[in-house]
Amino acid sequence: MRLLFVGPPGAGKGTQAQRVAEELGIAHVSTGDMFRALDPDTDLGRRVREIMESGGYVSDDIVIEMLEGRLGRPDAAAGYILDGFPRTLAQAEALDAFLGANGLDAVVLFEVNEDEVVERMLARGRADDTEETIRTRLEVYREQTAPLVELYDRRGMIRRVDAMGEIESITERVLEELR
Ligand code: AMP
Repeated sequence: MRLLFVGPPGAGKGTQAQRVAEELGIAHVSTGDMFRALDPDTDLGRRVREIMESGGYVSDDIVIEMLEGRLGRPDAAAGYILDGFPRTLAQAEALDAFLGANGLDAVVLFEVNEDEVVERMLARGRADDTEETIRTRLEVYREQTAPLVELYDRRGMIRRVDAMGEIESITERVLEELR
């Protein structure tokens, strides 16, 4: 199964993507994790870290190249969950071009209450999660990523999941939607 998980920052996509990928025996592909794993002593690592800390998006070229390389690895052949990619219309177009018209089976949309999202992100205590960057990240999501929901909705691919509550129950809801 080839899936895409979409939702605002802090919706718990990463946690759920990891759990669902394990349950389904497919790869968890997170561009955020890939960026965090970059060596901070390289030029690229430094540039990316700065962008992440500001709450902005890494440029499409860099993300697309990295993602395409990742999907070419053998473990992705069994299926995958894309977590955090695509995040812009340009990335969605690149993904279409890379995978072909029927490249994804479904898009899971994580629906949350925004106040709760901010709470969750502050509680998570990650280095790129200050109150100001969280606000920026929500804004950037609304402007650049929310339009993707319409795009995939027009294709009839969106599965909406209430992403509030216990981690285990949310995983169950996602699996139920995919059944
Ligand atoms: P995430 O772990 O998915 O929340 O990603 C953390 C940060 O990595 C984001 O706030 C962006 O700065 C960057 N990032 C991850 N994926 C992408 C993407 N597809 N396009 C642009 N920037 C990304």
